[in-house]
Parts: sequence; C-alpha cells; structure tokens
Amino acid sequence: MTELICIVCPKGCHLTVDEAHNFEVSGYGCPRGKEYGHKELTNPTRTLTSIVRIDGAIHPCCPVKTSGDIPKGIIPQAMELLKDVRLQAPVHTGDTVVSDILGTGVSWIATKDM
Ligand code: SF4
Repeated sequence: MTELICIVCPKGCHLTVDEAHNFEVSGYGCPRGKEYGHKELTNPTRTLTSIVRIDGAIHPCCPVKTSGDIPKGIIPQAMELLKDVRLQAPVHTGDTVVSDILGTGVSWIATKDM
C-alpha cells in the first residue's frame, strides 16, 4: 500500500493505492483523484514550467512550459534542454521553444508574448 496526497485540486484528498490489487485506489473524492492515484504509481507524469533567456525584450527571461505531461523520470533531461536556449524577440505565446522533448512528442512552448 502506498499513501499519497492528490495534487489535482486544492482539496488534497489522502489516497491509498494498493499495488497488490491492480493499483486499486481508495480515499479519492472524485474520479480525477482515482485516475491520478493509479497513474502516479504506474506511469507518473508532470507538466513542467521554467524560463529561458531572451534577447531584444523588456525582460531578460521568457516563461515556458511543456505542451503536455512528460514522464517524471526524464524531468532532469527535459530541463537540461533549456540550458543553452536563447530566444530572440518577438516571441508569441504558444511558440515552440524546443520541439519533441526526448522523443515524447511534447514540446517546450512560450507562455508569454515578449
Ligand atoms: S480526489 Fe478529486 S476532490 Fe480529491 S483532491 Fe483529487 S481532484 Fe480534488
């Protein structure tokens, strides 16, 4: 049995996941928590946010996020991809900053017009 707190909404339900019984989830307050508990123990993923350097804009950094969830196990490598990125203004919300992160089909995208 594994206990975790659901992070899908602020209510923070205390979940229990039973690995011995097909990752059965209990303690959830809605179906999204049940899905989260099962996924967290079988294939945990996250949407990431970060910043990259930008030239020619009012601010020196542009906020970015992943266009979808990526596996938790590749988060360090996904962050590393941003290390040498230097954008040139203008940049628009939704512009691709790094495409197809490590073959996931998910991209780093800008989240602000700059
Ligand atoms: S189980 Fe549902 S109600 Fe409870 S924290 Fe998760 S999303 Fe919110």
